[in-house]
Amino acid sequence: MRNQINNADKCEQARRMFQKAKAVVCDIDGVLLSSGRAIPGAKELLATRRCVFVSNNSTHTSVSLAAQFQSLGLVCRKEQFFLAGEHAVEFIACHHAHSSVMVLASDDIARLAEEKLELFDPALDRKPDLILFCRDRELSFDKIQAAANAIKQGTKVVISNLDLTHPADKGRIHTETGALWQAVKAQIDDIEPMVVIGKPGIYLAVQAVKFLGFSPQELVFLGDNLTTDAPAAAKVGIPFIHIGDDGVRLVDLLSSKDERLVRGVLQSDVEAPLAAFVG
Ligand SMILES: [Mg+2]
Repeated sequence: MRNQINNADKCEQARRMFQKAKAVVCDIDGVLLSSGRAIPGAKELLATRRCVFVSNNSTHTSVSLAAQFQSLGLVCRKEQFFLAGEHAVEFIACHHAHSSVMVLASDDIARLAEEKLELFDPALDRKPDLILFCRDRELSFDKIQAAANAIKQGTKVVISNLDLTHPADKGRIHTETGALWQAVKAQIDDIEPMVVIGKPGIYLAVQAVKFLGFSPQELVFLGDNLTTDAPAAAKVGIPFIHIGDDGVRLVDLLSSKDERLVRGVLQSDVEAPLAAFVG
C-alpha cells in the first residue's frame, strides 16, 4: 500500500512537470505510435499541447510521416518533425554542399537527397566524398561492398542513427540502421561515422528547441527509450519523462484520475541535469 502511494506521488510529480511545460518534445515510436497505430492519449496530446517530434526514423520524410499521422487522426504539420534521416540530408546540404554523396537510404530519403545534394556518379568521380547512411531496406551485397571500399579509400560517413533495432508488435523487432552499418563496419579496422545525427546525440533535440523558441528547462521530453531519448534530453537540459510499460502511460499524464497514477515510478539511477526520470 505504501509503495502504491509512493508511486502515485511520483507519477503525480511527472504530471505536474508535464503540465508546467510550455511545449512538449516527443519521441514517436513507443510514445505516440506503436506498429503504425496511435497510442492511447496521442490524439489528445497533439490536439491540446504544442509539440514537436524528435525521432531516429530514417525511413520517412516529415511530409510522408505527417501524412501518416493525419491518416490516424493525429493533428500535425510537417514543420513539427525532426527526423534523423531527413536531417542527415539537411546536415550534408548545409555543411558539405559540394561533396559527392553515395546514398544508402529508403526511396523517400533518396528522393530528398537527389533534390538537395550532389550525388556520387561512378562515371565521373573516382570515389564519393561522403556516404549518407540511413535505413536502406534494400541494402544489398553490392551496396555493402561499394560502401566498404569507398570508406577504405577515405570516404566519410554521415549516418542517421546507430540503433540496432526498434520495437515491433508482440516482442518482435525491426532491424535498424545501426545493424546495417555493422555489415560495413565489420570489414574495416577502427572506423566510425564522421557524424551521427540521431539520439542519443543532441543534434535533433537542439534543432527542435531552437524551433520552439523556449529554453530547454521550459520544455518536457517524452520518450520510451532510456538509452537514446533520456541521454539526449539530459545533454540538452530538457526535463525527461519515461513513457511506456516500465514508466508512465501517456493517458496517465493527461488524466487527473488518481487511480491511474499508481503505475509510475521515479527512476533515480540515471543522472541528468534538470531532469526527472519516471521509469
Ligand atoms: Mg521510441
